[in-house]
Amino acid sequence: MEMLLKDKIAIITGASQGIGRAIAEKFSKHGATTILCSRNIDKLKLVSEEIEKITKNIAVPMSVDVSKKSDIDTVVNKVVRLFSRIDILVNNAGIQKYAPFIEMKEDLWDLHFDINVKGTFLFSQAVAKVMIKKGGGKIINLSSDSGVTPVPINASAYCSSKSAIIGLTRIIAKELGRYNIYCNAICPGGIVDTGMFENYSNTIGKGRFKIDSELTALGRLGYPEDVADVALFFASELSRHITGEHILVTGGDIMSQ
Ligand code: NAD
Repeated sequence: MEMLLKDKIAIITGASQGIGRAIAEKFSKHGATTILCSRNIDKLKLVSEEIEKITKNIAVPMSVDVSKKSDIDTVVNKVVRLFSRIDILVNNAGIQKYAPFIEMKEDLWDLHFDINVKGTFLFSQAVAKVMIKKGGGKIINLSSDSGVTPVPINASAYCSSKSAIIGLTRIIAKELGRYNIYCNAICPGGIVDTGMFENYSNTIGKGRFKIDSELTALGRLGYPEDVADVALFFASELSRHITGEHILVTGGDIMSQ
């Protein structure tokens, strides 16, 4: 197998489970040293041990709340001390909570923007400063099909935050392209085997699995690895002439709506 990320240093946020974990494992299998970030260090330690066992590459767990600048600065400084550069950042950590628009509370709105949007802004800014000094890098943001279509219902804060990530992706790409920094976004549709989808089906109703599958052109929902392969593409040289883009990874659900 060709190693697409040999010797690269990659930070992945929200790597304790779901899509983030799959991206971390994929990058590690392709030769990257991975830094796994999330809030629960004990869970992260287990994940990093599992990944190291599978891939034999270093996976370092680091605790961070992405809504806190001080946590992010600590992680970025530690990674630079340990490895002297950062080649790839995946802003994957995110939350999705539900309330009808008319009842949406300000604190729930702020929570989505603090984690999903401000977390992406702060982490990208801190890492970009390092990337500029080292000649460039790749930033990959997790948006969602919710960023381009109004789904799911009762998730106005989530949908708005995911649209904001697409806007942020474009402006990072535009301002930092001259430093050889790329920035692209991935917009998954329903991805099973994740905390987010489990929460969604518990809230919206278990029957959604069948309904949502049937809404896709391919007739199935996605798996974390479907998203990890696209992240690998954006992290590697294969995407060397693509920046400021967002790509839907939905099995064709928008075409079916
Ligand atoms: P998940 O709930 O399984 O994982 C989310 C991860 O983010 C966890 O590791 C969690 O600990 C971490 N996280 C949450 N808040 C954090 C914070 N403040 N600081 C640090 N880490 C934090 O969900 P997932 O489906 O794997 O979600 C990953 C990304 O994919 C999210 O950005 C989500 O919006 C996006 N996404 C998911 C789906 C889906 O159907 N699962 C669809 C579209 C987009």
